[in-house]
Amino acid sequence: MSSFKASKNVKSAFAASAFAVMLISSPQTATAGGEVNIYSYRQAELIAPLLEKFTEQTGIKTNVLFLNKGLVDRVKAEGANSPADVILTVDIGRLNNAKTSGVTQPVESAAIVENIPSEYRDPTGHWFGVTTRARVVFSSKDRVSQNKITYEELADPKWKGKICTRSGQHSYNIALFASMIAHHGEAYTEKWLRGVKANLARKPQGNDRGQAKAIFAGECDLAIGNTYYVGKMLTNEKNPEQKDWAASIKVLFPNVDDRGSHVNISGMAMAKHAPNAENARKLMEFLSGGTAQEVYAEVVFEYPVKPGTKTSDLVRGFGKLKSDSLSLQTIAENRKAASKLVDKVGYNDGPTS
Ligand code: FE
Repeated sequence: MSSFKASKNVKSAFAASAFAVMLISSPQTATAGGEVNIYSYRQAELIAPLLEKFTEQTGIKTNVLFLNKGLVDRVKAEGANSPADVILTVDIGRLNNAKTSGVTQPVESAAIVENIPSEYRDPTGHWFGVTTRARVVFSSKDRVSQNKITYEELADPKWKGKICTRSGQHSYNIALFASMIAHHGEAYTEKWLRGVKANLARKPQGNDRGQAKAIFAGECDLAIGNTYYVGKMLTNEKNPEQKDWAASIKVLFPNVDDRGSHVNISGMAMAKHAPNAENARKLMEFLSGGTAQEVYAEVVFEYPVKPGTKTSDLVRGFGKLKSDSLSLQTIAENRKAASKLVDKVGYNDGPTS
């Protein structure tokens, strides 16, 4: 991995941008195979070990631009001059947005299709899942005795005043609610969402980690959160109080006895004007392969998309994940309806008595 060869565009945006932008440099000089430019929502340190392996295997140098905000807008603004080859981001909402914003191009690759199950890739090849993350229920170890749960049950009045979530409009919740619409229809989902809202302990707020913190503090007994945050909290040396939050919760995988738990993806796409398209395709094939899948999933505490790839010991400690096989494309199609329902039921106003 090496320093980004900043074009005029990148330089000026770098100087003027309010976004957190980081150019990563390392002493690597392999250039025999040319280079590939990666715009990543994921911090460069996380993918560094993978990219080093990729360069070792192919001789292709990698340049990473980390953008924790406005990645798609940035590529769009750069237009045909964009140096971006590969876009790495998280959530079906963002991947779908990249596609509909016109900053991606379809990729045809037998290797990728073989590695990534169809539910985790765009039918037209504009985006591909690299890892999956389950949206699960965090439950209080002290106050919740049951070891099984369903999403449907979160609307049961027995949980009144017991549930915490982040904003209903956050893309992670929108994807979950969109999956409810896909399975049960809009009328059911509206009623369900009213039920969940009525069970909230407080107004939706904070992020997924904040919900674990609220369980730790005794504010609620159940919360909705993504699996990898549990791994991140349990291993957080910088903010060790998060270890206590994570230690106070149990991961319950919803709907193990029927359709399985809702999963979302982190993913990749080829930029529409990729100047190094062939190298971009090689990198994408590499990231879908077994070696990269195992390393990546281990580092980010997520699940590999390639069937049969090992998950990290820590993540396996949560129990066995049964993934809902609903396609992410279908979820993307239902996102708008889900967002409307959130407003319609006044979800973000919190519980009303
Ligand atoms: Fe996240």
